[in-house]
Amino acid sequence: MSYLTHLECSLCQAIYDPDQLIRVCLTCEHPLLARYDLPRAAAALDRDEMKHRPNTLWRYHEMLPVRDPCFRISLGEGGTPLLKLNNLGRLFGLPYLYLKDEGQNPTGSFKALGLAMAVSRAVELGVKEFVIPTAGNAGGALAAYCARAGVCAHVYMPQDAPLINILEVQMTGADLHLVNGLINDAGREAAVDAQVGGWFDVSTLKEPYRVEGKKMMGYELAAAFNWELPDVIIYPTGGGTGLIGMWKAFAEMEALGWIDSRRPRMVAAQASGCAPVVKAFHDGAEATEPWPNAATIAGGLRVPVTIGGRLMLQALRESNGTGVAVPDHRIQAALSLLAQREGIFVSLEAAATIAALEDLISQGWVHPDERILIFNTGSGMKHRLMLT
Ligand SMILES: *Cc1c(COP(=O)(O)O)cnc(C)c1O
Ligand SMILES: [Zn+2]
Repeated sequence: MSYLTHLECSLCQAIYDPDQLIRVCLTCEHPLLARYDLPRAAAALDRDEMKHRPNTLWRYHEMLPVRDPCFRISLGEGGTPLLKLNNLGRLFGLPYLYLKDEGQNPTGSFKALGLAMAVSRAVELGVKEFVIPTAGNAGGALAAYCARAGVCAHVYMPQDAPLINILEVQMTGADLHLVNGLINDAGREAAVDAQVGGWFDVSTLKEPYRVEGKKMMGYELAAAFNWELPDVIIYPTGGGTGLIGMWKAFAEMEALGWIDSRRPRMVAAQASGCAPVVKAFHDGAEATEPWPNAATIAGGLRVPVTIGGRLMLQALRESNGTGVAVPDHRIQAALSLLAQREGIFVSLEAAATIAALEDLISQGWVHPDERILIFNTGSGMKHRLMLT
């Protein structure tokens, strides 16, 4: 069973019935967040007993929105490993350096977590036809979970997206639209067609449940660190569901009595060619501004407009974190470094976290006695071919 009680607007705090189909706040159009009966859950759930359950996205299903288990649409997502990076740690002088490898998820990226949850819950609420604008990986994940659920997917993707993303969508038989522009242009076209077709739009943070899937990264890492969170988390930030989801997970786990009030310092790593969150953080702004002429080889970071800016900035500030932008050539160098030292072929987005870490080391922002966690968000196998 699920302890889901209501949806709450992240800005104006309006409350909504969670068993109706709804996307964003009807008055202010900001993201809705799922809320649970935490006192009852705290009384009923024993974190140490739960570790005997299968290690998947659904392990802590009471803290997820799907009510009936028959609607859990799964391809085996979640439960990815926490890897200690001894070789890179030695090179950097950081003996407690870790990587959580979300690249081992179905469809080769952590987008599987969010889309497994969004599709499962929406199908439970009666949706038969979905639409998504995507830089690539979210479209692949939506297409896969829709195929699994036996429902329709419409995917809007920049025409210069990696070939593998185009292929994985086409293979499922989903309806693919290649758009001349970026993810926000794809979003505009998708929204128009969704209105006409009556499709359910699962754009980043424009429905409440992708973030619930992503938040499980926070539960999993807490369990992997034996319920003592690391000191620093560096996260490759695009639309921000991962950052927002983990921050939400930490608050829930504290209310459940599973962790104490200490939090990691959260770091948003972005590419210099598209760094709206990093810029807004250092400008002291409350929300992000659209980034003109967004350009980076890391497609998942090429997100010039985000509805979650405010929530991401809150997480960075409340945690005493920061934002770091790194240029593409350093992303590429970091990618090779990690593969050579540790045998892990990560996404370009994740490589940005290594380059960001190098900057934080030279600024003295991280210390050798700290436990530092970087996130791999996707498999290197999903890159477009790079002949360099
Ligand atoms: C989408 C994506 C990101 C950005 O994730 P958000 O949680 O939306 O900020 C990072 N890396 C990869 C590989 C992605 O596909
Ligand atoms: Zn609102």
